[in-house]
Amino acid sequence: MFKRFRIAAELSAGRKLGFVGWLFAFASLCAVPGSAAGTKNSLLAYGARIVGDEARTRIVIDFDREPRFSVHYIANPERIVVDLPATAFGFPAKDLEARGLFKDIRYGAMDEGSARIVLTAARPVQLALAKVQTDESGNGHRLVLDAEMIDKQKFAELVKTQSWNDQSGAAETTSAIPQPEKAAPGDFVIAVDAGHGGIDTGAIGVDTKTEEKLVTLAFAKALADRLNKEPGIKAFLTRDDDEFLSLSQRVLIARQNHAGLLISLHADTLKQKDIRGATVYTISDKASDKLAADLAERENLSDQIAGKETVTEPPEVADILLDLTRRETQAFSISLAESVLASFKDQIGTINNPHRHAGFRVLQAPDVPSILLELGFLSNVEDEKRLLDDAWRLKMADLLTDAVKRYRASVMANGG
Ligand SMILES: [Zn+2]
Repeated sequence: MFKRFRIAAELSAGRKLGFVGWLFAFASLCAVPGSAAGTKNSLLAYGARIVGDEARTRIVIDFDREPRFSVHYIANPERIVVDLPATAFGFPAKDLEARGLFKDIRYGAMDEGSARIVLTAARPVQLALAKVQTDESGNGHRLVLDAEMIDKQKFAELVKTQSWNDQSGAAETTSAIPQPEKAAPGDFVIAVDAGHGGIDTGAIGVDTKTEEKLVTLAFAKALADRLNKEPGIKAFLTRDDDEFLSLSQRVLIARQNHAGLLISLHADTLKQKDIRGATVYTISDKASDKLAADLAERENLSDQIAGKETVTEPPEVADILLDLTRRETQAFSISLAESVLASFKDQIGTINNPHRHAGFRVLQAPDVPSILLELGFLSNVEDEKRLLDDAWRLKMADLLTDAVKRYRASVMANGG
């Protein structure tokens, strides 16, 4: 619940400051890069080992202090989630590569006060042992996790009988977030969403191994700064440091702040390393092509990577008004996408057919026109260089600001 508390605290601070003050508070937070990882009170995980086979696997993680931890199980796919207080993970990634019972292992920040390890299993598993031991020297503390295979029914029971009440940040309950104040009348509010974050690193650069979550955050900050230079435009960031946000939280933050637009920023990788350039995506039930479908599928995995329970979407109420809103919102999203691509013309390289569509969950707000912008691909060496270039970033932010202004003018001309 820490996350919820923090958002609530920020928003109630916003009440006192007024919306503009709140935006400034947001902006000043942005001045402290990477504050989530390695803050002064973080635990340090300085070593890790994994041994075992497909029946039993042992994981040992060395901490500088005794870690409080809690363990949970999530189905579809079978995962073990270990929640920790804020932790800096200082060991080499190869020391905790998935093996034995586990086919994927992720770890990282969930928010300022908590971190998580997500062990995705190849088959139903349980922890036969999960405890902290003092190491031989008496200085460090090691977390020992002994996993063993179990049958499907046993795993289902573990999932069913566990309680999430004892720890922070696990079950996502967003309904309690209070409504923030509205923007000043006439302000055009824009949610700038840095893709990925925290435990979800996103793609990894082919050459310099840059993490997508850092590329998107740096870009989001530059874009919000640039947009905020325009009178009548108020841009804010959905996340301002290296923390995890679920896809539905991103949508909710945009809606609760009465955003008139949501721009989600990404820099993914493709198998085809020669493909480079920007792409603009809008939402649709049916993907425009295979590349778009694959990308949306991977992006939508974000919640799973972070060990979020699979939330089955409530069946949409057959509401003709909602349907009309959705259709209108989609038309606005497409118009923004076209405006962005018009700005890029002869200025920024794009892939073939640069406006594509697919079922991205981050674009699903029924009432906030939304686009997902692939700035370029971290799988392409040239693109990777560009994504890390300050001058290119500023140029891109300028062009996007032009696009937003043109979009807004056309909406206002049509009485929107
Ligand atoms: Zn991405």
